[in-house]
Amino acid sequence: MTVPSRLRPFFTNVPAFRCRVHNADALRCLTMRTLLLALLIAPMFSPALAQAPASTSAALPFTLKPLGHGIYAAIDNSQGDAGANAGFIIGDDAVLVVDTFENARAAQALLGEIRMLTKLPIKFVVNTHYHLDHVAGNAVFAKEGAVIVAHRNVLSWIHTENLKFFGKDIKPEQKSEVESLAAPEVLYESAVELRIGAVPVRVEYYPGHTGGDSIVIVQQEKTAVVFCGDLFWRQTLPNLIDASTLPWMETLLTFGKFSAESPITFVPGHGDTGSSADIAAFRGYLSDLRDWVGAARKSGKTGASLTDAVLPQVKQKYGSWQFFDYFAKRNIADVEAELGGTKRIPSPATSR
Ligand SMILES: [Zn+2]
Repeated sequence: MTVPSRLRPFFTNVPAFRCRVHNADALRCLTMRTLLLALLIAPMFSPALAQAPASTSAALPFTLKPLGHGIYAAIDNSQGDAGANAGFIIGDDAVLVVDTFENARAAQALLGEIRMLTKLPIKFVVNTHYHLDHVAGNAVFAKEGAVIVAHRNVLSWIHTENLKFFGKDIKPEQKSEVESLAAPEVLYESAVELRIGAVPVRVEYYPGHTGGDSIVIVQQEKTAVVFCGDLFWRQTLPNLIDASTLPWMETLLTFGKFSAESPITFVPGHGDTGSSADIAAFRGYLSDLRDWVGAARKSGKTGASLTDAVLPQVKQKYGSWQFFDYFAKRNIADVEAELGGTKRIPSPATSR
């Protein structure tokens, strides 16, 4: 299998930090409430951090998109030079970064954009999951003193499961690059609240994409921004290599119920920012895929004949989505394996 350019990593190294576990089951039910409470919360960001215009520099591997006072999404460019989306939140006395792209160059560019907006320290990086295209720039921010935060399973998988993206012929230098990725040092189980000054940022675990995925929620006066990582792909076919599509659909149903006075902005891992309608459309893709693959299995099809039967259906409805050519057949095969009970998904026991 050829590794697509967006999964070709360029890594560097990083120091370590201590771990703090937040067992926050009691907080889990607060997602809906916290979003509703957005109505009651006073403006959280310094007036000095008024929105900067969206950056359109041709040199950047992403487009910086302001989503509110001090909240920015960094949307991968059309060539996929950053490999994935990222973002950051400028609080009262520090900055929180969400994901670090697939290479240090893109991460360095993001750091440069942050530094043009604020000199505040970068306190946290949240990795939404372990995949290379979201963690490869971790070291850039760790060198700035940032603490990397993630769901516990990210630590189990970042140095092991990422090897599979290079295939069986992985080179020794690629292996060592994966094994030297800057890993998360603050781990959580269900949910954790991070503070950047007076600004609370909620990080919550949801199942479906890898089994170690986080969303990052920050509230504005009447609405909220939710960084979804790869739990949401906007008009883009997803990577289902580690997926469990049924719990994933439940997760997306939950996102669709998040509410605030004004529409919530959802930042996907891939594709442009979206609305709850986009979340529903993505859930529809997973649902359709399960239905179509399930029907083909019932008619006795397997393997290539099943793919041949399902692909035209996927193409008719989702042929215009990004990554169709790369992921459509793989998605069908992944769901066939999942429905047949033969799919391998990462286990927390994969820990080093
Ligand atoms: Zn991704």
